[in-house]
Order: sequence, then C-alpha cells, then structure tokens
Amino acid sequence: MPAHVFAPPAIPALPVAGSDLLFPVRRVYCIGRNYAAHAVEMGGDPDREPPFFFQKNPDNLDPSGLFPYPPDSEDVHHEVELAVMLGSGGTDIPAGEALDHVWGYAIALDMTRRDRQAEAKKAGRPWEIGKAFERSAPVGPVHPAAGIGHPASGRIAVTVGGVTRQEGDLNQMIWKVPEMIATLSRHFALAAGDVILTGTPAGVGAVVRGDVMEASIDGLGTLRVEVA
Ligand code: MN
Repeated sequence: MPAHVFAPPAIPALPVAGSDLLFPVRRVYCIGRNYAAHAVEMGGDPDREPPFFFQKNPDNLDPSGLFPYPPDSEDVHHEVELAVMLGSGGTDIPAGEALDHVWGYAIALDMTRRDRQAEAKKAGRPWEIGKAFERSAPVGPVHPAAGIGHPASGRIAVTVGGVTRQEGDLNQMIWKVPEMIATLSRHFALAAGDVILTGTPAGVGAVVRGDVMEASIDGLGTLRVEVA
C-alpha cells in the first residue's frame, strides 16, 4: 500500500461515559427547526416548513468543557441538543429499524455565530461560517444505548450563569430520531461514527466571555461549558 504524503490527522473521538473507550467520529449531521417553538422564534412556520439538515465538521465536536469565543462574530448563541451516535448505518433505512443503528446518546451544544448565519440566510448562501467554526460543538460523554435505552421524552435545558435560557422536552421534536435517521439515509450513506444533532428547543440566546453554560438532558446528566 502506498504511504501517505504526511501523517494522516487523528480521527476525532469522544469519551464514553463509565468507560475508558472512545467513540470515533466520522460525520456530523445537524437538524434545523425541529422543535416548533424554536422554528417560530427563528421566523419559520412549523406547520408549513419541514425540518432540514446541515453539517458541522467532525473535529468541531469538543469534549473539553471550554468554548473559546470565536473570532468574526459579536452574536454567538447556544443551542442545546440531543446528540445521536450511530454504531452502524446504511442507505434507505426504514424508520422501524433505525434505532438498531444507534450506539449511544450525548448532550451537545450547537454553538452558532448568529450574525454570520443571518447574513448567509439573507444572501441565500451556505451556513458553514455561522455553524461549522472551530470547536463549535461542545459535547458531553457518549452514553451507550445498551445502558440507557433510547430517550424519546425527558427534559432538555440549558442555563447560563444559573439562569434557565432554553427548556423543552425531547417529545416536542417534529421529526423523531427514527424518522431523522430514515430521512438522512435516503440522502446519504450513513455509517458507524456518524453523529446527528437533533435540533434545539426555544430560548436560544447570546453568550459572552466568562459565561458558564450548563446543558442538561434527563438521563444524560449535565454538560458544563465555560465560554473562554
Ligand atoms: Mn441547532
């Protein structure tokens, strides 16, 4: 086999709760406007517009507990989300079989340069500058589905400085996790290591340097992230 022209970069990997194993990340898919109240606060109409997908980069996931405030923005928002980690994949996966492909779950924050995203929306341009910047997805440890099952309901929330900013229930998702996997698998070949951020409840808002975000989802504990 030919040698690489330089050492291949390390594969991003996330800690697994209660274990010294790592979950290797292949791709990161994100869903937009998957909670009706958040769709409304972003100017959408959840009765007329279905949720949609975009991507972040695998190495944007960051388990360090630190979020460096990014350059090129004065309006960076938190979006607390349930992350779904796949242990296998495929194409045209039926919704009824989708959960068989889920290896685990984690708490994630889809941090967003809202000013850059708003410009991109207005101009009809892609969202990467607003969404896929360095360390833009703080994430907690991966909890194996073998241990916790498949959460379909439960409180999801984030506080900033101890004040609740976002609060909702996983049962408010417009596309449930199995539908999300089924839909994605019609457009992309899903595989082990793929991560899906499943959308955020209402209450998104800005953070500033020095803020401490505490994101929580029933059954997954709390993710503490300091804005540095
Ligand atoms: Mn989001």
